[in-house]
Amino acid sequence: METLGTFDLVVVGAGVAGWTAARRAQQLGLRVVIAEKFKSGPGFGNGRMSGGVFHAAYLDPLRPPGDLLRMINSATTGAARPDVARAWADNCGRAIRFLESQGAQYAPRGEREWNRHTLLPFGADLPETPLEARWRGAGPDQLLTSMWLSFVRDGGDFRGDTRALELITEAEEVIGVRTTLGDILGESVLLADGGFHSNKTLGKRYYGSDGYLIRASHQNTGDGLEMALGVGAATADLHEFYGHLQHRGAMQDYRLWPSPSLDHLAEGGLLVTASGARLGNTGATFMHLVSEVIQSESPLGCWVVVDQTGWQALGSLVGRLSPAATLDRLHAEIVVADSVEDLASRLGMSGDALQRAVDAHNQHCLEPSSLPPSGEGLHHSPVTPERIQTPPLRAFPVVVGITFGLGGILVNGDAQVLDSTNRAIPGLYAAGNSMGGLQGGPDHGYAGGWAQASVFGLVAAEHAARRLAT
Ligand SMILES: Cc1cc2nc3c(=O)[nH]c(=O)nc-3n(C[C@H](O)[C@H](O)[C@H](O)COP(=O)(O)OP(=O)(O)OC[C@H]3O[C@@H](n4cnc5c(N)ncnc54)[C@H](O)[C@@H]3O)c2cc1C
Repeated sequence: METLGTFDLVVVGAGVAGWTAARRAQQLGLRVVIAEKFKSGPGFGNGRMSGGVFHAAYLDPLRPPGDLLRMINSATTGAARPDVARAWADNCGRAIRFLESQGAQYAPRGEREWNRHTLLPFGADLPETPLEARWRGAGPDQLLTSMWLSFVRDGGDFRGDTRALELITEAEEVIGVRTTLGDILGESVLLADGGFHSNKTLGKRYYGSDGYLIRASHQNTGDGLEMALGVGAATADLHEFYGHLQHRGAMQDYRLWPSPSLDHLAEGGLLVTASGARLGNTGATFMHLVSEVIQSESPLGCWVVVDQTGWQALGSLVGRLSPAATLDRLHAEIVVADSVEDLASRLGMSGDALQRAVDAHNQHCLEPSSLPPSGEGLHHSPVTPERIQTPPLRAFPVVVGITFGLGGILVNGDAQVLDSTNRAIPGLYAAGNSMGGLQGGPDHGYAGGWAQASVFGLVAAEHAARRLAT
């Protein structure tokens, strides 16, 4: 196979992690190449189409590192590796400033602490806006485009239409990458290909079902994971993912993708499978519920049920995109009935099963422990569960929209990939949604996509530079 060149650092994937690493490595004097599967710069991963809210486990990333460390340990119930959690907490503030040095500008978008640093300009989020017009020219697109142009201006080698396939090793060290266009050799290789959420075969293997909507880029097919497994890498929390409950119509109608989310309705209403079995337990947040739906008997057949009071209280809770207004306006499917029995018959379920689910839900609403957690580090205000008693009842078909995996290739605090004996594989790094070791745990703790990707892009580049110097 043709050799395309020899570099100090080979970056696989031109996303948030890849561009951060590439620009930092250039600053440190490294010769850098980026291999990107998408045909042109700056790549087309999750970062480019994201909302661009830079938060740290739903806290302001500029808070003292001690606050961030406490929050990630609490969100993951201690599942985060200590060295990885520490590196993330120590570097979130530096990462946000580094992106600023690359052209990022931030402003608050909304009242909550986690929205304080949202990339400018904000994207349009009206459902009727064509998909491309929502992200093109918005903050994330502008920032990544600017990093790509600066990279090339400063002598970096950007290879579009170049899909990495396999790692090249010599004497147990990683020395390059085999791509669709040829071999690229390097002192170090960074896997930053954004994870595997858009590969339904891997989704079925690790999440437990392929019955989900890809609420993300379709480029991220898990090549980095397969490449790392091929050289003996360990993994962490591959079954964990970040996602939202969406109206099932989003599978055909772009106007319902990727918002509005039906998270509030599901948290405060009744979530049932296609046969009427109740899902969701005391205090479940949307992150628990999306996991339960995926693992249920009918990931593509679940429903959220609310009564008239619930619809009024829960349907309008989301700030910018109220599901009530949006679903009504777009004539999305809503099944309306005057009684539990009538609703069951319209949904093709047993009336007894749905009545049992309603009774259990109503009982749960009376328990004090049904209240969701409150305090800092929350995606949205706590939702009070609503009993189902006042007709008309409404049922919404739901599907899980998966945005990305929370787990991945296991790394240490320097973003070095570890093998099953906890030894760093020389020359190999992972960052962003490709990596594991920071997020997950029983409550599906989330560190923030931009925060994880930019922090570990930075530390990977810095470690690769130190490695080169020794
Ligand atoms: C709709 C949406 C909204 C979001 N909103 C937010 C938000 O507000 N705040 C937040 O913190 N996070 C948000 N995220 C998540 C965030 O965008 C991601 O966590 C982040 O982009 C991860 O960065 P990454 O570099 O790991 O991957 P990506 O940005 O996905 O980049 C991966 C790159 O690798 C390339 N690639 C894939 N396979 C290969 C291969 N074999 N060879 C070469 N290249 C390859 C892809 O084409 C892509 O360009 C959102 C995501 C989505 C989809």
